[in-house]
Amino acid sequence: MTPTNKTAQLPISFELFPPKTPEGAIKLRATRQALYALNPEYCSVTFGAGGSTQAGTFATVTEILAEGRVAACHISCMGATKASMREQLATLKAMGVKRLVALRGDLPSGFGAGGDFHYASELVAFIRAETGDAFHIEVAAYPEIHPQARSAGDDLKSYAAKIKAGANSAITQYFYNSDAYFRFVDDAYKMGVDVPVVPGIMPITSSSQLIRFSDMCGAEIPRWIRLRLQGFADDTASIKSFGLDVTTDLCDQLRNGGVPGLHFYSMNQSAPMLEVLQRLQPL
Ligand code: FAD
Repeated sequence: MTPTNKTAQLPISFELFPPKTPEGAIKLRATRQALYALNPEYCSVTFGAGGSTQAGTFATVTEILAEGRVAACHISCMGATKASMREQLATLKAMGVKRLVALRGDLPSGFGAGGDFHYASELVAFIRAETGDAFHIEVAAYPEIHPQARSAGDDLKSYAAKIKAGANSAITQYFYNSDAYFRFVDDAYKMGVDVPVVPGIMPITSSSQLIRFSDMCGAEIPRWIRLRLQGFADDTASIKSFGLDVTTDLCDQLRNGGVPGLHFYSMNQSAPMLEVLQRLQPL
């Protein structure tokens, strides 16, 4: 049975990254068609550090729009000047983009920061000042605390600053502990910040990749998940099967807790999302 999401109450969305090769672009087109069957609210496209993937990001966004779908373009300000950002915003507007995911980004090691922006809140304020309400702006949220934050309290204040600067909603870094998400939303609410916070979901399909990503971005892999994955060694079938169970249970808990949507880090694959969302039907 082909899973569909036509009657979904809960909005879903997918993050894609720009392909590096023509073969990757062909594969991504097929992935998108499979994901479109789930009726996503939008697909977002990542933006490489320091603008390194700008051409690929914009090309992928253009394809999604040409396919009649809503595209959200990630945009990062680390290393950018106001003039270069103004130019990118004008291009995105002319392309017909209506949604942005506004980020600070990270510069590859060895690059000096430079540029006119220090934090994503400054980027959000700049986008609003330059383009008014032309874009729906999402920002990043970190239920398990951004790795460079001075403290949990400071990180929450940084998040609030992005919303006060004009962001409409947030997507979280991925996590496997739903308590962290619900606590974050409660704490933000107590500070008077009540925009939708959509949990970011990273389906587990590979042990080494997950551990590498999580070490980089500060997402915690609970001990029991890490040990179970280690126990499967190279048994990819068991890793995938376990990963689907964990991801489905997490989405189920989040849905039962009343989240405003589910945003999947697709890693340019469709199979894990098709399976998880089929298991969750009706959403
Ligand atoms: P910010 O909100 O600016 O926060 C960065 C750090 O600075 C935090 O520790 C914060 O607490 C601190 N901070 C903020 N304001 C202040 C202040 N005024 N004073 C002191 N400290 C402050 N990266 C990419 O390169 N491309 C992408 O496409 C991309 N997409 C992403 C999508 C999502 C949904 C998420 C969650 C992350 C994404 N990232 C992406 C990663 C992101 O760029 C990194 O996590 C980056 O390190 C922080 O970006 P930010 O926008 O959250 O920064």
